Amino acid sequence: MRKIAIIGNGISGITAARHLRKLGDDEIVVISGETDHFFARTALMYIYMGHMTYEHTKPYEDWFWTKNNLQLRRAWVQELKPEEKQLLLSTGEYLSYDQLIIATGSKSNMFGWPGQDLPGVQGLYSYQDLELMEENTRNIQKAVIVGGGLIGVEMAEMLRTRNIAVDLLIREQEFWDVVLPKEEASLIGRHIVEHHVNLRKGTEIEKIVAGDNGRVKAVLTKSGESIECQYVGLTVGVSPNINFLKGSGMELDRGVLVDPYLRTNLTDVYAIGDCAQFRNPLPNRRPIEQVWYTGRMHGETVARTIMGKDTAYKPGIWFNSAKFFDIEYQTYGHVWNTLKENEQQFYWEHPDGIKCIKFVYHKEDHQLLGVNTFGIRLRHQVLDQWLQDKRDIFYVMKNLPEANFDPEFYTRHEKEIVTCFNQQHPSNPVILKSGIFSRLFS
Ligand SMILES: Cc1cc2nc3c(=O)[nH]c(=O)nc-3n(C[C@H](O)[C@H](O)[C@H](O)COP(=O)(O)OP(=O)(O)OC[C@H]3O[C@@H](n4cnc5c(N)ncnc54)[C@H](O)[C@@H]3O)c2cc1C
Repeated sequence: MRKIAIIGNGISGITAARHLRKLGDDEIVVISGETDHFFARTALMYIYMGHMTYEHTKPYEDWFWTKNNLQLRRAWVQELKPEEKQLLLSTGEYLSYDQLIIATGSKSNMFGWPGQDLPGVQGLYSYQDLELMEENTRNIQKAVIVGGGLIGVEMAEMLRTRNIAVDLLIREQEFWDVVLPKEEASLIGRHIVEHHVNLRKGTEIEKIVAGDNGRVKAVLTKSGESIECQYVGLTVGVSPNINFLKGSGMELDRGVLVDPYLRTNLTDVYAIGDCAQFRNPLPNRRPIEQVWYTGRMHGETVARTIMGKDTAYKPGIWFNSAKFFDIEYQTYGHVWNTLKENEQQFYWEHPDGIKCIKFVYHKEDHQLLGVNTFGIRLRHQVLDQWLQDKRDIFYVMKNLPEANFDPEFYTRHEKEIVTCFNQQHPSNPVILKSGIFSRLFS
């Protein structure tokens, strides 16, 4: 029986542990310094907003771990000693392993701004960050968030539920326009403003200033403006949490470098989830994927390889989803922030300004390449299949009702979308299939 150690009890580490247990009876130890049990990091905001308790965010009951013979250790790993196959824990103990999985996730980016360590200034990643945010925002009136992106907008929503005034500073001209095309970025930007967040575009931070009590008092921008506040959220992205591996002989870049089997350069050591960086990323994929469902896929893949069935990471069609205040966002395939040379797009926006859909397709053969949707939910399975089958935009338009996931009583918009599409493509008009028929025959 081997001893398999997993550092990190997030989605990737825990998925690996569960699959290893399903496939065999090795000794499995999961080590984490953050919490005793696995919880859904994506639900942190709901604890702050009072919609959930911490207990609700745990996908498994506490008895699950003993029942499945998964040992949990609460400690920080401080050092990896690959020659001895040992880990030094913050408790001072050494823990030995035969196989090791590094699943240590991310940490908030800090760019060395003066004042970034002041009391009242923080990022949002861990459970401890959430506790700190609870403390830091008690009885405050004004917050500044630096950095637009998914975590920045979540933090703004959290603060607004407590009536705290929020200035959200973004360097770009539109919200998250490094990822979103300009129409979608502008729609979300307007929605953020409608939720009484002061979205300040093209604004960069110079430093954070302390008051007489030593706590944050203001943010000074590069244009010399001083914004008074009692709290600063730094949400300028995340990066792999791998500092403790420096000097261990592990090949590191921004993350732990891995091959398609999630193997590192060290014998019997693997890395998965947010902290792993592919040496040769798959076409159209980033070398580091910092999303929940890819962490889960990494965990399952690495478990198979460790159990003797070498399995390369094959993630299929890219997908992601998020929520910006009231607007749900889904993306399938590839919708870049600017169209590539061989791409064409069709964009439809509802007059209410909070729903839109974009289809990107190939200029020549009209093959669907990606879809962005805001405020309209689509069926993952259908979109995934269309992209895999390389369906063309005319097929997609015709069969649009098949992809709709909104509950029956929601207003549906396929007719308006297809009418708008036909106006832009008069030479090849599409006749929409009825929802019931297309679902029956799909
Ligand atoms: C506020 C927030 C909202 C998010 N929302 C979404 C979303 O809507 N959709 C989405 O796809 N993704 C979302 N993400 C990202 C998603 O949560 C991550 O991609 C995912 O959690 C990564 O999983 P992981 O298992 O790789 O790492 P993690 O979840 O980070 O788990 C790693 C664990 O390892 C522990 N650890 C690290 N170093 C050590 C050490 N040296 N010793 C011991 N333990 C260690 C950490 O403390 C942590 O518990 C969100 C993230 C945040 C912070």
